[in-house]
Amino acid sequence: MEPKKNTDAKNISKVQEKRRQSPTEEVLVKGILNGDRTALARAITLIESTQIEHLEKANFLVEQCLVKKSDSIRIGITGVPGVGKSTFIEAFGKYLTSKGKKVAVLAIDPTSTQSKGSILGDKTRMNELVKDPNAFIRPSPSSESLGGVARKTRETMILCEAAGYDVILIETVGVGQSETAVHSMVDFFLLLKLAGAGDELQGIKRGIIEMADALVINKADGANRKEANRAQTEFKRALHLYPPKSNGWMPKVLTCSALEKTGISEIWDMILEYMALAKKTDYFDSARKQQNKSWLLQTIDERLKQRFYANPENKKRLEELLNDVMANKISPFQAAEKLLKAYKKEKS
Ligand code: GDP
Repeated sequence: MEPKKNTDAKNISKVQEKRRQSPTEEVLVKGILNGDRTALARAITLIESTQIEHLEKANFLVEQCLVKKSDSIRIGITGVPGVGKSTFIEAFGKYLTSKGKKVAVLAIDPTSTQSKGSILGDKTRMNELVKDPNAFIRPSPSSESLGGVARKTRETMILCEAAGYDVILIETVGVGQSETAVHSMVDFFLLLKLAGAGDELQGIKRGIIEMADALVINKADGANRKEANRAQTEFKRALHLYPPKSNGWMPKVLTCSALEKTGISEIWDMILEYMALAKKTDYFDSARKQQNKSWLLQTIDERLKQRFYANPENKKRLEELLNDVMANKISPFQAAEKLLKAYKKEKS
């Protein structure tokens, strides 16, 4: 009899353990609103889940968190690998927490799908910030679609804001398409650059400069300082050739040393100046509305796809039609039409 008792006890403790591991959505929301980082982290994991059965819970969390009014500033930070993004975020984040701010760092890494490992996911890159009780660092996992990454980052951002984080830093590598997605969800977009190398050499894609509200030349220290100052003058001149932004803001060019922590407070002051202007001109509100619009459209896009591909009938038909297309029996357009028609009929 003894062993059976043991097994029962084990099973009960397993169930208890599982319960402990997965608190209800209501408990998570309460935890988030109380600024509990563990609850926040768990809620984000739920949001990032691709399992259909988690969707409802995730929606509930976002809905509840959206109710909480937040006065946050959302800042996108981009730049090629090696420019010093994590060193900068560490310095900038520490500066902000020293000023009483609560800082959340969300890192998007679209390359991780291919590399199978997140280059941004290494939390140890921000040694100090990771230990700071007023900072929360969270890398976004890889996702099949860029829209998916963006949507989850947005929702993660909402949760962080509900947890009381008032500065949200979204880090992205400036070599993919992720910066367009990030640009569509932040209030201020900052491009980190190096002095002395052309944009092509730095791998900076065209169009990013136009999106930036500020260019910050990093590593302005030691022997590099002179070069950084020269680059600053050149960029300032070059930016004058671009048409002014619709909100009247003229993008600024600053220098800093993330390593020596110089030029950091100037960057924050500039962002505050921008925010003051954007709020005065109502640009802030209309930009946030625009952000909501693209959030809505992306969400619909993703949900439709998710539902379509999760449907077992569709999977089967797609398989068959793929074979037919490969065998040249039907054109891709006809196949797509057939599939969608069958799905529509099924739905109605
Ligand atoms: P990321 O790939 O953009 O995140 O860049 P990292 O923050 O990992 O920095 C890449 C390298 O540049 C590291 O060796 C840093 O120590 C160095 N680095 C970052 N910021 C500075 C800086 O302001 N000055 C100098 N001299 N080196 C820096």
